[in-house]
Amino acid sequence: MIRKVRQHLSQNESLIFERSSPGKIGYQLPDLDVPAVDAAAALGAASVRAEIEGFPEVSEVEVIRHFTRLSTWNYAIDLGMYPLGSCTMKYNPRINEAVARIEGLAWAHPYQPESLSQGAMEVIGRLEAALCEITGLDAVTLQPAAGAHGELTGILLVRAALEARGNPRKKILVPDSAHGTNPATAGIAGYSVQNVASNDQGMIDIEHLAGLVDDDVAALMVTNPNTLGVFESNIAQAAEILHSKGAMIYMDGANMNALVGVARPGDFGVDVMHINLHKTFSTPHGGGGPGGGPVAVAKHLEPYLPVPRLKRMKDALAWDFDRPGSIGKVKAFYGNFGVMVRALAYILAHGGPGLRNATVDAVLNANYIRHKLRDFFDLPYDRPNMHEVVFSDDRQAAKGVRTGDIAKRLIDYGFHPYTVSFPLIVHGALMIEPTETESKDELDLFIDAMISIAKEVDEQPETLKNAPHMTRTRRVDEVTAARKPILRWK
Ligand SMILES: *Cc1c(COP(=O)(O)O)cnc(C)c1O
Repeated sequence: MIRKVRQHLSQNESLIFERSSPGKIGYQLPDLDVPAVDAAAALGAASVRAEIEGFPEVSEVEVIRHFTRLSTWNYAIDLGMYPLGSCTMKYNPRINEAVARIEGLAWAHPYQPESLSQGAMEVIGRLEAALCEITGLDAVTLQPAAGAHGELTGILLVRAALEARGNPRKKILVPDSAHGTNPATAGIAGYSVQNVASNDQGMIDIEHLAGLVDDDVAALMVTNPNTLGVFESNIAQAAEILHSKGAMIYMDGANMNALVGVARPGDFGVDVMHINLHKTFSTPHGGGGPGGGPVAVAKHLEPYLPVPRLKRMKDALAWDFDRPGSIGKVKAFYGNFGVMVRALAYILAHGGPGLRNATVDAVLNANYIRHKLRDFFDLPYDRPNMHEVVFSDDRQAAKGVRTGDIAKRLIDYGFHPYTVSFPLIVHGALMIEPTETESKDELDLFIDAMISIAKEVDEQPETLKNAPHMTRTRRVDEVTAARKPILRWK
C-alpha cells in the first residue's frame, strides 16, 4: 500500500558558511588592460567596503553543488501531488515557461516607448479581455501583485465609489469561514470588520446577513466557493440584500478553479473581485515568487481603477493616464508582466471548452477524494463539494492524534501535507484540494496513504506522534521556529 519510497543518493550538506576557506574564490578575471583606478578615490570611501564580514569563500563548483543538492531535498509539484487546500497547487505546463521566455517578451522594458511595446501591450489587452469574459465583469486591471494586493485594490475601489457618492461608510462584513487576508484588507482600507455567521450547511446565514446590512456597511467580502469548498448558493440573494442598501459585494476569487467556464461572478451580482493568476491560471507559486492579482469590476467601478488604463486607439494601443477618478497606482508600471504572459498562454492553450473541462475535473477529483475518505475521516459538512474538501480530525483526536500529526505522517508516504487547521470554523481541519492536474492513479496513491494513516491511528497511534520518520529533518519545533527564528549564521 505504501508508495515505494524513492531512494537515490543524496549527500549530506553543511551550511555554505561552514565550507568557507579563506582566500578561495569562485571566479577568474583576466589581467587588466586599462589603467587601474582606486575605487575609494573614484567613488568616495563611504561607498567602498573592504570585505563582507562572514561572507563564504568557496569555489564555483562548491556553490553549484551546494544549491543543487539542497534543491533535491525539496518537494515540488514536478515530483508529486500537492494537496494543499485553498492554494490550487496545480501542475504548470512547460509551454507557459517557453512562451514567457520569448525574447521580445522576457526582455521588454517598461520604459520602452509605446510604439515599441505594442506586442506586450497586446498581451495585456487580450488577457484583460479574457478575464472579463471568464468573470462576466466589465473591466479588469492587471496591476496588483497577488491576491491580497488585489483585495486591497478592490476595497479601495469600493471606498472611492462610495466616497464619490458622499459617504465611504464604516463597515465590511466578512463570513466566519473567510481567509485571514479578507479582514486584514478591510482593516487596512480603514473599515471595521463585522462577522457573518455560517449556517449548518457551511454557507452564509442569509437571515443573519439581512439583519446586519445597514447604511454603515460598505461591502460584503465573500469567497465563493467558500473555504469549505461549498458553493454559496444564496449568493445572488446576498447581492440583492447588499445592493438594496447601497452596499457592494466583493468576491475573493482565489477559488475560481471551481468556476472558470461554468459560472461567472458578474452574472450572480458580484461588483468587484480578484483572481489569483498564480493559482487558477498556472504560474508556479509557493516559493514566494511573483504572482498576479487582477481585479475585475462592474461598469460602475471602472472610473476608479488604477492608472494607467490600456486604451485601444484606431490602430495602436496606448496608455491612458488621464483618469481623474482613479485610486492611483498600486504597483510599479503595469504589474508582473511575466505572470500575465503565462496566464494568457494557459488560457489560449486550453480554449473555452478546455478551461471548462479543467474546472469540471477539479471538482470531480475533490469529490472522488471526499467519497473515498469519508469512511475514515470525519466530514463536518457532508454534501457534494466543489474543488476542495474539508475533513476534521475528530475521530483521530480521540486517540490523541491531531491534524498536524497526520499531515506530518503524510510526508513519509511521499506527499506534501494538505492544509492544516484551516478554515477556522472546522476544528482540527484537514483541507484537501487535488486540482484537475492529478490523474486517478495519483489520487488513488494519495487516498491509499490517507487510509493507511487512518489505520495506523487505530492500531499504533504512537507512530504518528513524532512523524515524519523518513525525512532528512525530523519534526521541528514550529512554535520556537516562528517565535525565535535564527536568521543569522552567527
Ligand atoms: C490564497 C488566498 C488569498 C490570498 O492570495 P495571495 O495571492 O496569496 O495574496 C486570499 N483568499 C483566499 C481564499 C486564498 O486562498
